[in-house]
Amino acid sequence: MIPRLRPSLDWRELAAALRPPRRDHVERFEAAFAREMGQKHAIAFPYGRTGLMLAIEALGLRQREILCPAYTCVVVPHAIVFSGNRPVFVDCREGEFNMDLDRAEEKIGERTGAIIATSLFGHPVDLDRLDALLRRHPQVAVLQDCAHSFAAEWKGRPVQRAGIAAVFGLNVSKIITSVFGGAVTTDDEAFARKLRGLRRERLGPASWAKGFRRLLYLLAVYPGLWPPTFRAVALLERAGWLDRFVKYYDPGEIDMPPDYLQSMSAIEARVGLVQLAKRRSIVAARRRVAAFWRRRLADESGLVLPPDDEGATYSHFVCRVEDREAWVRRWQNEGIQLGTIIDYSIPHLAAYRDVAAGDFPVALLYSRSTINFPLSPEVLHRSRAGSTAEPSRAGDAGRRGTLGAADR
Ligand SMILES: *Cc1c(COP(=O)(O)O)cnc(C)c1O
Repeated sequence: MIPRLRPSLDWRELAAALRPPRRDHVERFEAAFAREMGQKHAIAFPYGRTGLMLAIEALGLRQREILCPAYTCVVVPHAIVFSGNRPVFVDCREGEFNMDLDRAEEKIGERTGAIIATSLFGHPVDLDRLDALLRRHPQVAVLQDCAHSFAAEWKGRPVQRAGIAAVFGLNVSKIITSVFGGAVTTDDEAFARKLRGLRRERLGPASWAKGFRRLLYLLAVYPGLWPPTFRAVALLERAGWLDRFVKYYDPGEIDMPPDYLQSMSAIEARVGLVQLAKRRSIVAARRRVAAFWRRRLADESGLVLPPDDEGATYSHFVCRVEDREAWVRRWQNEGIQLGTIIDYSIPHLAAYRDVAAGDFPVALLYSRSTINFPLSPEVLHRSRAGSTAEPSRAGDAGRRGTLGAADR
């Protein structure tokens, strides 16, 4: 079975994790991260959301409104709330995953302090529209949420540089990972100084125990992603035994993980350094697999392919279908696990229902209809071997027959 998610970890990350810690590992990770993103500063955090929260604080915003997508990772509005501000949700642009910047503009008011522009699933945010919006509302600060993008480009412009700062998430589900962890990049000296100051004030040091827990977590990821053991892991997951590890939110709570104010550990920084060196090849491989899926799925009826953006980096290859369960079952039979990466619309979650004003029909539709196909290179190997990904039409039709209309 090809898992819906497979970080590209090999012996190099393992070796790096097991090396003796040195105090400057986090600084070295930051320097490499800034270089790789083409920015002056990178500041490391235990989670992307911690970085986002303190970035908002570094802008001096309090009790203000912050625009963010209705369809994004739920930790984003959590970070806004924890920064002492209020999220204002914006629906997606129809046919795209990113927020509709025209609708965003309609929601800009006196109290608007910032907009969180997100390149969801690695599809670059439309920087032409964003520039136009900012010309009309220069008082609104832009934070780029690059947790899914890692240098996605809009017409050749890297999205992370189009704002005061950019936030990256680095957990194992992201394009590159430092086990957990996050980073904020910026070219603005004053902002970098402010953010580093806040980090010094608010974050405690990474304890020895945290480093050890991160190492154990990393060690647990390897067998979980190794084909012979993965089947067992998938079974445990289906039985709900792994919820503690794979469920990252509670629909009724606005909360943060217990260690969200404990600095990134040196072991995470070392793993992150190895991953950074592989970033270009990882993204190139994901683009190849995405192109493969685009061809492979082109003739499927009842399936909407993701936008074909040239500068997309594909954290996920997300399609839309009507009967999600049927698709998951059908591809499971083919040995391919599909995911439902964001299966909620934030304003419809219990935690936000009462504060969210307006309708969010596109986000709601996506929350019910998105599925994502695996992007690890083994998809291509499998297809070259002539099995799963290019199934014989006859066999495929037979199987499809059993699902019948549900597939449409
Ligand atoms: C993962 C993610 C983040 C940051 O997540 P952390 O778990 O806090 O590192 C931010 N935005 C989006 C869209 C994400 O997917």
